[in-house]
Amino acid sequence: MHNNNNDGRPERAASGAGLSVCDTCGDSSCSATRRRSGESDQEFRERQKLEQRMCRIRRKIVVLSGKGGVGKSTVAVNLAVALVMAGKKVGLLDVDIHGPSIPTMLGLKFGSGQGVGDELLPIDLDGLKVMSLGLFLPGEDEAVIWRGPMKTALIRQFLKDVAWGDLDFLVVDSPPGTGDEPLSVCQMLGRVDGALIVTTPQRVAAVDVRKSISFCRQLRVPVLGVVENMSGFVCPHCGNITPILCAGGGQQLAEEMKVPFLGSIPMDPKIAESSDHGRAFLSHYADSPTARIMREIIQPLETLVDGSDNKTECGKEKELSNKD
Ligand code: ADP
Repeated sequence: MHNNNNDGRPERAASGAGLSVCDTCGDSSCSATRRRSGESDQEFRERQKLEQRMCRIRRKIVVLSGKGGVGKSTVAVNLAVALVMAGKKVGLLDVDIHGPSIPTMLGLKFGSGQGVGDELLPIDLDGLKVMSLGLFLPGEDEAVIWRGPMKTALIRQFLKDVAWGDLDFLVVDSPPGTGDEPLSVCQMLGRVDGALIVTTPQRVAAVDVRKSISFCRQLRVPVLGVVENMSGFVCPHCGNITPILCAGGGQQLAEEMKVPFLGSIPMDPKIAESSDHGRAFLSHYADSPTARIMREIIQPLETLVDGSDNKTECGKEKELSNKD
């Protein structure tokens, strides 16, 4: 038995002693309810705050790539915008600390980030909640020269202290590769519903994608699929798609690695133009053939929240596993 507040919710136990049920998900088995052995009061409170914040997010999708410049942020932005257009409550978190490009892509001012009390406020862009380190930097050209622990602390703060509220989806734009930041993000998010891996068609990109898939498997993050970007060129005059890099690398690799292939996005000057002008391609060029292709790739992901496993789940920082 536990005591109830006036509003019927279970009463919070004394500081550091744990809760009988989680404030957010109401589950007594939630890892936010109990202090772990060896955990100090402060560590417990911090973890509890993080896990309770994550409890209010139904689905978490991480966008990964083996290397930079393949269109990972482009896919993350357009995935988030497509989900908002489908009526979902969506957050977009840019954890590309050394190259935060989400503010530029969405026309948000560098340095416009705000906090109230101990919370950071995401920017609300027509229903999309956006957070990026760029919002707290004086300008686009500011270099962030940080070592691992500072980056890990920032990622924790972005998950724990941002007023995300209740979300259907959190889309995370991760830095490229399999280093500290993607690892910290995947561990701190608790349950990650899936990773989207973005690549380009060339065979040299394949090695990096294999690494990204192996990274997901070690962390037990389901791979939602591989997206091949910059696959062919859309002629701005006639609209025809011409293959300019060897095509099909992403699909072949997905088959080899036994993960879903979600589709190919052509190189379209309108994508580069819209991100340079701070406009989301999918909403700005909604009727273009490339936008249709993008929507077909993204659409299956919209149904993730409508699946049978609908409840939120408090996160537990995950251990690395060497099992496939
Ligand atoms: P990453 O996040 O992998 O570093 P970005 O998403 O920042 O890559 O994309 C790099 C650049 O390429 C951006 O200027 C973006 O607008 C452009 N870009 C990405 N995908 C396409 C595409 N399919 N067609 C045209 N330009 C693209």
